[in-house]
Amino acid sequence: KLYNQVQDLKGNIRVYCRVRPSLGGRSDFKSVVDSIEEGTITINTPAKYGKGCRSFNFNKVFGPSATQAEVFADTRPLIRSVLDGYNVCIFAYGQTGSGKTHTMTGPKDLTETSQGVNYRALSDLFNIAEQRKDTLQYDVSVQMIEIYNEQVRDLLVTEEIRNNSQNGFNVPDASLVHVSSMYDVIDLMNLGHKNRVVGATALNDRSSRSHSCLTVHVQGRDLTSGAVLRGCMHLVDLAGSERVDKSEVAGERLKEAQHINRSLSALGDVISSLSQKNSHVPYRNSKLTQLLQDSLGGQAKTLMFVHISPELNAVGETLSTLKFAERVA
Ligand code: ADP
Ligand code: MG
Repeated sequence: KLYNQVQDLKGNIRVYCRVRPSLGGRSDFKSVVDSIEEGTITINTPAKYGKGCRSFNFNKVFGPSATQAEVFADTRPLIRSVLDGYNVCIFAYGQTGSGKTHTMTGPKDLTETSQGVNYRALSDLFNIAEQRKDTLQYDVSVQMIEIYNEQVRDLLVTEEIRNNSQNGFNVPDASLVHVSSMYDVIDLMNLGHKNRVVGATALNDRSSRSHSCLTVHVQGRDLTSGAVLRGCMHLVDLAGSERVDKSEVAGERLKEAQHINRSLSALGDVISSLSQKNSHVPYRNSKLTQLLQDSLGGQAKTLMFVHISPELNAVGETLSTLKFAERVA
């Protein structure tokens, strides 16, 4: 019910903010977050950024003690939508270290309670499909890609692929693998993760500088009428949004930073023009928005998780993250 109210107010785009807990474990830790109230987060800004308090509004704010289950509870209606034939995009945005991968996948030592949105979404999807099996027969398949320097790489095979297609719904050249249970999904996610790491050896950890996208395609056939519905969900762990100091990087790093800047602002431009209901939506400015075109706008539903760190030394990035998010909300 709450979800529908939010939908009425905000159309098909929702933005949630999540604050990571402090990682040091110190009891005297002082967070830059002054307060959190429902959808409002207030940041205590130091003198350098104009001393005082600055508030930002979202559909919801999750504080540092929010559990993976609590975060997923508010994502859940979207999973049902996919099985009803809608296209859905879920993004994790934020600077490196702010908790994007934690939200989408979970921590390295993954347990059932620490599983992130990706696992929970797939698990829900299979459960709902099972509940509906007397009336609908569902077929589920997944793709996993990485976008690095505007190049698409298939994570479910080992060699590099190049994506030539202009079709936004599907990544035609990336492997599409049929899955029938959570076991299949977990195997594929492990393969994708392994492939991502393999690709990263030359430049050490590349994962924070590429977007990774798990796409789930769902096809449901009505057992009485034979009618077919299709839905699709993109779960995107975006590249780190931190600004790179151009005076300190060169060559490959500078190129990466420019690609990331450009694609994140292209995403911001697309989402904000959708939320303002502009007639022209600039999908063509990045690989990411081109690929997701059919799942952004129209009947599609979008959820952006915006991540921030609580530390004082990150407050500059935190403020620019919140400003980015405020623009798209
Ligand atoms: P990102 O993907 O944005 O670079 P990570 O998800 O890797 O950031 O998070 C950085 C570190 O903080 C990781 O060790 C992660 O497990 C931890 N972390 C992030 N968010 C949380 C959270 N909500 N609760 C506990 N630990 C978290
Ligand atoms: Mg990450």
